[in-house]
Amino acid sequence: MPDTVLWLRRDLRLHDHPALHAAAGAADGGRVLPLFVLDDRLWGPSGDTRRVWLTRSLRALHAATDGALVVRRGDPAAVLPEVVRELGAGSVHVTADAGPYGRQRDEAVDTALGEVPLARTGTPYAVGPGTVTKGDGTPFKVFTPFYRTWKDHGWPAPAGPPPKGLRWATSVDSQPLPDEPDLGGLELPPVGEDSALDRWHTFLDGGLDHYDGERDRPDLDGTSQLSAHLKYGEVHPRTLLHDLGAHRSRGAERYRSELAWREFYADVLWHQPRTAREYLKREMAAMRYSEPGPDFDAWCEGRTGFPFVDAGMRQLRGVGWVHNRVRMVVASFLVKDLHVEWQHGARYFMRWLRDGDLASNNHGWQWVAGSGTDASPYFRVFNPVTQGLKFDPDGAYVRRWVPELRHLEGKAAHTPWDAADGYAHDYPQRVVDHAEQRQEALDRYAEVRS
Ligand code: FAD
Repeated sequence: MPDTVLWLRRDLRLHDHPALHAAAGAADGGRVLPLFVLDDRLWGPSGDTRRVWLTRSLRALHAATDGALVVRRGDPAAVLPEVVRELGAGSVHVTADAGPYGRQRDEAVDTALGEVPLARTGTPYAVGPGTVTKGDGTPFKVFTPFYRTWKDHGWPAPAGPPPKGLRWATSVDSQPLPDEPDLGGLELPPVGEDSALDRWHTFLDGGLDHYDGERDRPDLDGTSQLSAHLKYGEVHPRTLLHDLGAHRSRGAERYRSELAWREFYADVLWHQPRTAREYLKREMAAMRYSEPGPDFDAWCEGRTGFPFVDAGMRQLRGVGWVHNRVRMVVASFLVKDLHVEWQHGARYFMRWLRDGDLASNNHGWQWVAGSGTDASPYFRVFNPVTQGLKFDPDGAYVRRWVPELRHLEGKAAHTPWDAADGYAHDYPQRVVDHAEQRQEALDRYAEVRS
């Protein structure tokens, strides 16, 4: 049997990998060539954080395949036929991509491969986007009924370890991995499949039981921090859902539903690819927004004068990840206190997030901006101070990320304006008055409603 190509994209792992099994099965005793194509259409707009993560993940995979991983740079529609020719491969195997660009790209590669089939096996999701629909066949627009149907639909068991007798092809040349860009002090956790599984098992043993109560607390290590591992497919959600099955706690149920948000947003994007850039609720595009100016720069740099917001934006630049509660608060601040369109914030997030994912990011932003799915009405405006006091009650998160406020004890870190020495270390004054801007946001909203 001819050798086969396993073209890896968002599935940078060897366990629970149905496409790897399909590639090995088609090779039937032949060899499998693991290939990654550095596609400028994706590498170009990617932020440095994700470039570094990807490079490290590929390095981990290179080691895990005993050096067999081949990396080529170029347009996949040109690279794939080239590699197939060099190997004399009989088929190319992929995990199907559900994103707007990925689907188009795969169509082009399919055509370019001619007689050689491009076999799609599985997706990066437990349930493939577009699979779960309402009774009348239309897509879900609201999370809760999606979640119920998604759970009832179920998912296959994990595919287990790499196939027995798997042999890697080593006859095709690889280009070197790109150099890692300088992240200017941004620190990433360990990357790759082993690190993903370690992190998951640590969370299962410790965090999961408290997850329901602690997941909203950015001052605690209360969430799994698996989002970037999931984004690159270093672990598949099916593995996580399988392991959760052994836990009958509120934490496990809550974690399952959070994974389902990722699936829901991928499903929404699958049905409406335009929402990658545009408002899901089209009428919200007509609202009056402000052009990004100095206040936007202050938001990006964590200098708004609102401690909880600034802590979040500095966490983004510190570790390329922000706690979910804080993502909501900083996003609300940009859209509803500074009146800047969500796309500007989403782009900035994508530039620095290690888990930057088109579906989850843009729909997370749209949810906060009141232009997306579900009942997050525009008129619900987060108060950045009371949110901080509620979810970071001792101020530890603020002090961790905002050194200018470390001298303020307990919850006082959230309100430097109330302390005699609140600005002793050059912490900036508030760029806006929240109460005034909240009213301004509601006025602008009323204009598009009338
Ligand atoms: P956990 O609490 O441990 O949750 C487990 C997993 O469930 C996460 O890894 C993630 O895959 C999924 N998940 C949890 N919450 C959500 C959610 N609200 N939406 C979608 N999936 C979720 N998530 C991304 O993966 N990439 C993004 O680019 C992204 N951008 C966001 C932007 C905004 C404005 C908001 C409000 C949310 C965004 N999220 C994004 C969702 C969420 O904040 C992160 O998934 C979560 O903080 C990741 O941390 P964790 O792995 O510790 O999450």
